[in-house]
Amino acid sequence: MLSAKNIQKHYGELKVLDGIDFQLDAAKICAIVGPSGAGKSTLLHILGTLDQADFGELYFNGEDISQLKGSKLSSFRNNAIGFIFQFHNLLPEFTAEENILIPAYISKKEEKESMQRAQELMKILGIEARAQHKPGQLSGGEQQRVAVARALMNNPSIVFADEPSGNLDSKNAEELHSLFLKLRDELGQAFVIVTHNKELAAISDERHEMKDGKLARLD
Ligand code: ADP
Ligand code: MG
Repeated sequence: MLSAKNIQKHYGELKVLDGIDFQLDAAKICAIVGPSGAGKSTLLHILGTLDQADFGELYFNGEDISQLKGSKLSSFRNNAIGFIFQFHNLLPEFTAEENILIPAYISKKEEKESMQRAQELMKILGIEARAQHKPGQLSGGEQQRVAVARALMNNPSIVFADEPSGNLDSKNAEELHSLFLKLRDELGQAFVIVTHNKELAAISDERHEMKDGKLARLD
């Protein structure tokens, strides 16, 4: 589904990514681990088209997406890809439901269908009773589940998550991890997850380590 070849990225003299090859199949959870500063976020942003590589190729279902620009790029990103960050980045003035609907508004999706999709996602994620609450009225675990629902709103092919449980206590982290498995099994959702969490890495379908600018498959 997603395939990257010889991805390279420098920041000035600093070579952060030194020729990364990566492949992801549908309905798989792929974990990326590695020390802080190794370039995990940089790689995730490039794979998710939030940032551009200096060199290398990026294909999505056989289509070269590394050269997409402007409205084609934003439309691709908004429809094919979802993001979850360590901090939920929800808009504080909007309810949980409104936050979840934002990607659908941006894509100008049909309202009734979007509302249905939002309801469905809130149900799967166990936050339907929180629909009309604002982020400040939700627990950390609930906020992150709203962020997951928002990432899934437009039915993306791939969800990229950067240390999604890094800000949660162990109980909420464990619940979030079970939800990732459920979304993989019930919706066929594919994930690329940067994590320091050993349990999350352990339950993933594959593990890769970022180190010295290279990505190596573990086990
Ligand atoms: P990780 O997510 O593995 O902790 P990052 O991808 O965030 O690592 O960063 C990798 C390296 O690139 C770090 O040394 C960081 O300081 C550097 N870096 C990241 N983004 C930038 C930037 N926009 N400008 C300059 N250096 C950056
Ligand atoms: Mg990072």
